[in-house]
Amino acid sequence: MKALQLHGHKDIRVEDVPEPRPPPGWSVVRVAWSSICHSDVREYLGPSYIGRTGEPNAITGVYLPVILGHEFAGTVVEMNGGHPSIKLGDHVAPDGCIYDGTCWYCRNGRYNLCEQLAVLGFDAHGSHAEYVAVPNYSLNALPEGVGDEEGALIEPLAVAVHGVRRARVGVGDTVAIAGAGMIGLCTLLVARASGASHVFVSEPLKGRRERAARLGATVLDPDAGDVGEQVHDLTGGRGADIAIDCVGVEPSLNSALRMTRRGGRVVLVGIFTKDPTIEIGRIGLDERELTGALAYAYDFPRAIALVADGRVDLRELVSDRIPLRDVVTRGFERMDAEANELVRILVDTQAV
Ligand SMILES: [Zn+2]
Repeated sequence: MKALQLHGHKDIRVEDVPEPRPPPGWSVVRVAWSSICHSDVREYLGPSYIGRTGEPNAITGVYLPVILGHEFAGTVVEMNGGHPSIKLGDHVAPDGCIYDGTCWYCRNGRYNLCEQLAVLGFDAHGSHAEYVAVPNYSLNALPEGVGDEEGALIEPLAVAVHGVRRARVGVGDTVAIAGAGMIGLCTLLVARASGASHVFVSEPLKGRRERAARLGATVLDPDAGDVGEQVHDLTGGRGADIAIDCVGVEPSLNSALRMTRRGGRVVLVGIFTKDPTIEIGRIGLDERELTGALAYAYDFPRAIALVADGRVDLRELVSDRIPLRDVVTRGFERMDAEANELVRILVDTQAV
């Protein structure tokens, strides 16, 4: 089959690889659509997460080269072992976490914190390919009415669901979001679906701000003045109840802290690759809570339910569709260069 493999820094290739065989307890999914995530692009351009250990993953045995891709949907075509509710031919959106199921975290419902966590498309061969093998426990069925295109975006939506759950957004809360990329926009949609009364989004790129505004946000330009002051002006001088940083850099975190009221909550969803310097008094003296959120745990069924009943519409987030054979030139090389215009590019992995 054809697959997009990462060999190393700035070295990704569509090439022939063996079709995956499912070990016991795993299935093979024929991928319909696989979406390009910025973390895929980060592997290509650096700094890389794969290769940080210099050795094969303990659970999967996979190391470079690795097939990228973790946002996808497709059809189950082979099962080694059973699943209580999934059968051959079902359309699925698999969870990207691969875990041992036996460590303290797994046994306490927090598999995203597993001591041996492996992530599909990084520590295991992923979905930018005609076929992908996944653990049976990761399978989530897509109901009638949720197609494979939307299904391919359930993974980033699940990240947003997890972040909003970690933020404990309640009915009538005001929410401020830093960043209007895919995760920021999904967080906006989920916060609104969760009953937030007002959602502010801070984003420097104009095209992204306009998209967030179309999806119901009050948008703020961090280059036009302190976004903390802007949110305070719009909330009777208090600030938002909750802020969610969907970028993961020092300025976005400090914006999140400034946009929140005293006693409010700030949640980190964006993944930091450098330690930020923050105004610690905003935590200690002002009693804000600072909370982490990593990936998801049991959030896919919630994300699928939000799409199935129409409360979340992902269609605005699909910017382009391309064949797998063009994934480098029309996909990876455009994601950063056209960040203002693009949210997600879906890859037709059968178009080889
Ligand atoms: Zn574990």
